[in-house]
Amino acid sequence: MHSPLSRRLAEIVGGAHVLTGAECAPYVVEGRTPECAVFPGSREDIAAVLGVAADSGTPVMPWGGGTGMALGSPPAHPGLVLGLRRLGRLLEHEPGDLTATVEAGMTLEAFQAELSRRGQWLSLDPPQAARATLGGILASNASGPRRHLYGTARDLLIGITMVLADGAIVRGGGKVVKNVAGYDLPKLAVGSFGTLGVIVEATVKLRPRPDCDRLVVARFSTLAEAGQAARAVMASDLIPSALDVVDGEGLRALDGEGAPGGAALLVGVDGIAEQVEWQCEEVGRLLKDCGLAGVRVLDGTERDEAWRAVGEMPQRAFTDATAGMKWGVLPTQVAELIARAGAVASQRGLRAAFVAHAGLGIISAVLDAAGADAEQVACTLGEWRALVNGSGGHALVEWAPLAVKERIAVWDTPGPDSRIMRQLKAELDPRGILNPGRFLGGI
Ligand SMILES: Cc1cc2nc3c(=O)[nH]c(=O)nc-3n(C[C@H](O)[C@H](O)[C@H](O)COP(=O)(O)OP(=O)(O)OC[C@H]3O[C@@H](n4cnc5c(N)ncnc54)[C@H](O)[C@@H]3O)c2cc1C
Repeated sequence: MHSPLSRRLAEIVGGAHVLTGAECAPYVVEGRTPECAVFPGSREDIAAVLGVAADSGTPVMPWGGGTGMALGSPPAHPGLVLGLRRLGRLLEHEPGDLTATVEAGMTLEAFQAELSRRGQWLSLDPPQAARATLGGILASNASGPRRHLYGTARDLLIGITMVLADGAIVRGGGKVVKNVAGYDLPKLAVGSFGTLGVIVEATVKLRPRPDCDRLVVARFSTLAEAGQAARAVMASDLIPSALDVVDGEGLRALDGEGAPGGAALLVGVDGIAEQVEWQCEEVGRLLKDCGLAGVRVLDGTERDEAWRAVGEMPQRAFTDATAGMKWGVLPTQVAELIARAGAVASQRGLRAAFVAHAGLGIISAVLDAAGADAEQVACTLGEWRALVNGSGGHALVEWAPLAVKERIAVWDTPGPDSRIMRQLKAELDPRGILNPGRFLGGI
């Protein structure tokens, strides 16, 4: 079925690149089906598509791999999906400069594969690398365990090209073509959740691939011991690339259904082989004083599979996980907050699992609420938020059924800085067509 909108879009990108009706099923967000999904093949086509959307007041959802589309407040009106899958090329790789320029629709896995041929990598490791795109990763500021040592997209992005809501193609940072006066565009784009513009191209800093990369999995009988062990590593001379704590329920992701209980500390170490070996031995020695119950050092595919399992903990820990939250707290509070939040869930007869980037204070919390109604789930998430906010941290509902999102805000109550964010939104997207209402404070 072709609407006037889809016909106009087909004139821009070609009929083969516009989906309508049942073809849009893979692009349903929070139970809402978009009017159509359009896949432009150039930045100029993106500008023209945004022009059509602006003319008709149609909301636009930029779409990379779709792995993070559950994040955010439900869209009031889904409008059209603007997919980046046709912009998936590596444009330039300068191994001598340790930089690369890439189109936003390239998946992280494909990008890393290209870079590794020249012994380099982008030091970002969010989960779902086979689907997640560079544009989506930047827009959602996604990261993984190695953020502990290597930082976030904000630290690695040198330059960015975006198409703004009015169709202007702008570039900020390195290799400036046209700047948006006064704005640090790369910093603005990271974490903007597609509300300020469509990212079409990015230039990023790379690193040489480490000679050696190991994962030390240290087991403990209790979460408190694992938390103490994490603090001991942080206070030591060791320089881990990752430092994750997994609670007993979360360990199902690593061990399968059979052996939950206890807790684990996952210490990533990479660099020159001799240094890595020394660090692995030191970790073992240090943790003996913290009640270490067992230790394994993983390499190669075993290491990769363990990290993948931890990244996919929400799917793997429970067969029917209901909701997920992400919290930011002080690193020293991690183990205690997990224990208290676990107790909140079990008092309500629900199960919960947790993984934390312990050195950064970032906790992923998953609720398995099989049999519980939306009210019970929302109340538990609300209690978790109160716990985290009460400790000075912030809490985000990453994903939950629509009935739960109708009962609890996805984002924390906006602070005073949301006024500046609203001004920026008004300036860059005055008609509010880009992901309207999905971000903090209704932006
Ligand atoms: C099992 C699982 C675990 C996860 N764990 C983590 C985690 O530990 N840490 C973490 O940070 N994230 C995590 N995520 C979220 C997800 O990995 C990231 O959000 C993801 O990297 C986004 O990439 P994408 O291409 O799939 O983006 P999409 O899902 O397509 O889009 C994400 C957001 O970015 C916008 N967007 C996409 N492309 C563009 C573009 N080119 N220009 C402008 N806006 C755009 C979209 O509109 C949307 O708001 C997890 C997701 C899953 C499914």
